[in-house]
Amino acid sequence: MAQPFRFRVNQHGPAGSPVREAFTPAAPKPGWVRIELKAMALNHLDLWTTVGLPGFPLPLPLTPGCDGAGILEAVGEGTALPPGVEPGGSVMIAPGLSCGLCPACFRGDDMLCASYGVLGHVSDGTAATHVLVPAANLLPIPGNWSFEQAAAFPLVFLTAWEMLVHKVKLRPGETVLVWGGGSGVGSAAIQLVKALGGQAIAVVGSEAKAMKCWDLGAEHVIVRGDMKALPGKVRDLTGKRGVDVVFEHTGALTWGASLAACTRGGRIVTCGATTGRETSFDLRALFAKQIQIHGSYMGRREHLWTQLALIQRNPTNPPFRPIIDRVFELSEYPEAQRYLESGQGFGKVVCRV
Ligand SMILES: [Zn+2]
Repeated sequence: MAQPFRFRVNQHGPAGSPVREAFTPAAPKPGWVRIELKAMALNHLDLWTTVGLPGFPLPLPLTPGCDGAGILEAVGEGTALPPGVEPGGSVMIAPGLSCGLCPACFRGDDMLCASYGVLGHVSDGTAATHVLVPAANLLPIPGNWSFEQAAAFPLVFLTAWEMLVHKVKLRPGETVLVWGGGSGVGSAAIQLVKALGGQAIAVVGSEAKAMKCWDLGAEHVIVRGDMKALPGKVRDLTGKRGVDVVFEHTGALTWGASLAACTRGGRIVTCGATTGRETSFDLRALFAKQIQIHGSYMGRREHLWTQLALIQRNPTNPPFRPIIDRVFELSEYPEAQRYLESGQGFGKVVCRV
């Protein structure tokens, strides 16, 4: 077999700066397993891990990569495995790491655990030929899904389900404004909104992306232009009401329009700030319209099992599936990071190992 390798963030730098190095994968300790990765998927967290976040020091050197799928190669001594997972079998990885021992974990709110972190952000991740994870983070791969599909699934669907189902409790018939409909989490949200009986109004940057959002089941698509005109377009599409829910992950550039597009008593849920993390707004818009704002980060691991069950009913024609934009080789991981940063793709950027 070829020499195992991984990519390392030795010091923070621009997207694409992680450095390839050979390494010897360790034996898994009790409770942990080792995966021979067949595919990994990129997320914006890969970029944050590489570039660095002010006030949030990371344990460098670090291998980025939150999402992955592969073969369960080695199991720590005395370690039990989740249902449907066998040594030598195909698995995908839940990206959240938590203690499993605290009240938040017992409640199922593992992403509220004091020691919660994401694979590839607080510990070595999947931009590698092999990765070590707790056995509790394994899930079987649904149906005949490829490793690429399995790798592209967990983080964005975990995040979008948490936001739509757990945080804003989307009801059938409600309208949802989905920013960045061509992003990984946006393309997941459009499909989930439809599967949950809602209507997605997707916002995208180009006509080409608009066509793909229709294909995913968006009720309406707005090609973003002048941001000031956007709330008016949303009101036109919703009989002057505005949307019941705004699915935010873009941040500073869109926040004002999100408030303006939200109906009275509506909800805004946000999981990111890719266009900037500081914004200001008129508080009157918040209280006069009685808008609820929900912050969301990752999601309960249970959500992956719930979605897996829904997919398993009909794996060849599931109600939602990861949208893969482009597949690189793992050796091209730095290039894949730069491509993700460029924002030109639609859906997930994946590396085949
Ligand atoms: Zn915990």
